[in-house]
Order: sequence, then structure tokens, then C-alpha cells
Amino acid sequence: MKVLVINCGSSSLKFQLIDAETEKLLFKGLCERIGIEGSCISFTVTGQEKITRETPMPEHKTAVSLVLNALTETGVVKSLSEIDAVGHRIVHGGEKFTKSVVIDENVIKAIEEVSDLAPLHNPANVIGIRACQDLMPGTPMVAVFDTAFHQTMPQDAYLYGLPYDYYEKFKIRRYGFHGTSHSFVSKKTAELENKDYSQLKTIVCHLGNGASVSAVLNGKCVDTSMGLTPLEGLIMGTRCGSIDPSVIETIEKKTGKNTAEVMKVLNKESGVYGLSRNLSSDFRDLEDGYLAKDENAIRAVDSFCYQVVKYIGAYALVMGGVDCIAFTAGVGENSGFVRKLIIDKLGMLGITLNEEANKVRGEEKLISTPDSKVHVWVVPTNEELAIARDTYSLLAK
Ligand code: AMP
Repeated sequence: MKVLVINCGSSSLKFQLIDAETEKLLFKGLCERIGIEGSCISFTVTGQEKITRETPMPEHKTAVSLVLNALTETGVVKSLSEIDAVGHRIVHGGEKFTKSVVIDENVIKAIEEVSDLAPLHNPANVIGIRACQDLMPGTPMVAVFDTAFHQTMPQDAYLYGLPYDYYEKFKIRRYGFHGTSHSFVSKKTAELENKDYSQLKTIVCHLGNGASVSAVLNGKCVDTSMGLTPLEGLIMGTRCGSIDPSVIETIEKKTGKNTAEVMKVLNKESGVYGLSRNLSSDFRDLEDGYLAKDENAIRAVDSFCYQVVKYIGAYALVMGGVDCIAFTAGVGENSGFVRKLIIDKLGMLGITLNEEANKVRGEEKLISTPDSKVHVWVVPTNEELAIARDTYSLLAK
């Protein structure tokens, strides 16, 4: 079964075509600046050179249409009928969706109903679904939710200390994101450990431009660092992570900015980018700065690592121990430098780093020493493959 995986953002669309039986990636790419001047599509047929084209994309439907044209033009598929299914990444499933589902009109309606919880993402996701429905009528589609894996969190972990009415009436609570990645990586870690997933205590550190940590106890997520939105938790590339809510009012008073402007600062101008006085949100630049003893880089990276250590400590306690820690996503998979700064602070858990193994980039590898009480792994994430797997397993029935 050939599955087209679609990750539709407000102005971008990422796509992959995966053979779900062999799990082989056939084709992947990105449409950028949809609805904005200077839009472009880039795609790679596996084993060939990347092709980039500037082309007008006034709306998402044009982008999907360009993706489908590229698939036939390059001969990856002879006709669109060879695409057996589409798997859509949906950011927010609210409390309604605890697992992936086959898309029908009721599902689309339910995704729209929780749009106020993810106003930038869910409407774009629905636009992506509608565009595919128009251009590939009859092709079955599956929705895979970023929040679903975290729906097993117990009430103690997901409730905020707010009037309970706000939860009941408005569903204000912690949801968590990157769930497809946390699920994929925690399962993979159990496989690498050769242990039963349902009997393992794992902490997954998804450290990318967006970053979150999750506690996976016996195959179920019991806590995660992101909240109602992906703004809570760790200090991220440009997002502030957890702050005292009063900070917002204080910034408003001090700067004269309104709430929307402050939210923009918290989402786009904070994190390691803001802490480094806008040096960079990219950990490659920050690592270079750190090694050159740039105090802006040192401040940002050390604050980031401190927060990761804090969550690991908390989650080890919440689960009554921890068997494995997995590092994943752009920073977690590639930066031995950041991993070392974090792992060196975990001695209390009986963890020691294998410095030689920690040189690894983007490969599955055990990076703790043989006598380390907790096994530490680098496990590359693959959200698209996880989406293709869910799509296949739901539709192959
Ligand atoms: P992601 O959001 O998972 O795609 O991660 C993107 C981020 O990963 C980038 O912004 C960088 O900060 C980081 N990153 C990617 N490659 C490297 C690398 N080789 N060393 C350090 N950080 C990296």
C-alpha cells in the first residue's frame, strides 16, 4: 500500500510517499510560502537529486495539486490511482481522539470543533484534507493526532490548578504534542532494549526547534511537558516554555504591547533565540558560540539543558524510576554536545555517558556506559513513518 503522508501547516505543506508494506520512503518534499509571494516546491525522489521550483501557490489546493503532478511527472507513480491512501498529521485532537481514525465528515467536523485549541494548525490541517478530497476523490484518508498518545495521562498530570469549570466548560487542560514522535521513539527504544514495551519506564526527550519531554510508563504516556498548546514546558528554539502567567501582564505594562503582541514574543522571539540576544535559535550556531565562550550562547544553552534535566528528574520520580532515556529530533539526534551537557548532570540517577558512543549523529545508538544504571539511547524519530503505519493498519483491515 502506497501512503501519501501530508503535514499541512498554515503556509507550508510537507509530504512523503511511503510504501507501507516495505516501509520504504519513495518521495518527499516541501511546499513553502503557500498564499505568500515567492512560494516554492522542493522534492526528492529517493536516490535522486533534489528539485526546487518557484511557482505561485495561492492556496493549499494548488500545493496539493503540484505535489500530485510531481509524483506522476517523476514517474514515482504512473497514475494517482496508485496512491492507496493519505495519512494526515493533525495537530490537535482534543479529548475526542485517543488514537488515529479513518476520516469521514464527522471526523472533519470534530477536528473543526477543537480548532479553538489550535487556531493556527487545525484549520490548515482541515484545508489539507479538503484539498486531497477534491483532487483524489475516493482515496481513503486517516487522521493521526499529535495529541492522541498523551491522552492516557492521568487527571493529576493533565489538570491545571484553575477553576475546575474551565476544564469542564472550555476543556482547558494539558494535552501535550509531538505524540506521534514520543510514541514511535518509546516503542523503538523498547525494541532496541529487547524488552517488553508494557514493562518499561522510558523518558523521551524530543529536542528540536520545538521541544518536549514525556514519561512513558509501561507503554502509556503518564506525563508530558507541553500543555494546552505547544508553548508550555521546555525552553525551545524561539518559544519561551513554562513561565509565570503574570509575566504576560508585566510585559504588557512595561512595553505597551497588547496580548497578541506579547504572545508573538513568547512564541517567536523567546527561547534560546531570545536568551542568546537573538544570536540564533539553531543549536549548531549556539554550540559554535558556546565553544568560543560567547556568553550569550552559554546562557541560552545552559538554561535549555537545565530545564531538560529538571523534567527528567521529575519524570523519574513520577514513574518510580526510569529504565531508559531516549534522545530524539534535530538536537537530540545530532548534538552530542547538548546531550553531554544534559547527561553529565544525571549522575544521581546512576547514569554515565559513553563519550565515544555519544559522537553519533542521527543513528540508533546506546550512548551510556555498560555499567550505567539507566540506558541512554539516541533514537531517530520518524513521524511520517508512524503516520504511514497507522494509516496502513487502519485501512488494511
Ligand atoms: P527539528 O525541529 O527536529 O527539525 O530540529 C531542528 C533543529 O535541530 C535545528 O534548529 C537545530 O537547532 C538542530 N540541529 C539540527 N542539526 C544539528 C546538528 N548537527 N547539531 C546541533 N543541532 C542541530
